[in-house]
Order: sequence, then structure tokens, then C-alpha cells
Amino acid sequence: MKGKHKRTKRAMMNRHHLLPRSSGGNGMPNNLLLIDIEKHQAWHKLFKNRHLDEVIEMLIRLKQLKGWRYDYGKGNEGKAV
Ligand SMILES: [Zn+2]
Repeated sequence: MKGKHKRTKRAMMNRHHLLPRSSGGNGMPNNLLLIDIEKHQAWHKLFKNRHLDEVIEMLIRLKQLKGWRYDYGKGNEGKAV
């Protein structure tokens, strides 16, 4: 039973290329992310075929544009201040 569940869950996973194949990304483990199919679809809906670095830079720019910073002090983990 345990093995069957594992196979079923794995069958619902996709391989996402952090550097898209269209930009020269390969199938090496450091370029692949095993991700749930629904999350994979959501990733591409949000970020199209952007590279991981482009996504990170875009999010950092958004954060800076909105003047957000995080206070990682005690009890404030993840709260925008
Ligand atoms: Zn992908």
C-alpha cells in the first residue's frame, strides 16, 4: 500500500526546468525541480518561461517597489514591517 501511494503521488509530479530548455537548459539534476502538476501549471501561468533568476529578480523588484522589508527578529518572522 505504501509503495502504491508513493507511485501515485510521483505520477502527479512534473519536472520543471529552472533554466527552460528553450533557453538552453538541460536535464541535469541541478536544473530540474520535481513539482506537483498543479503547482507547475501555476508557476508557468504566473512566470511564463522565465528563468529562476529572472523570477527572483522580478520578485525582489516588486518588493523594493512596494517598500517592503522583513523583520526577521524574534516573533516577527515573515511579517512585513
Ligand atoms: Zn516548467
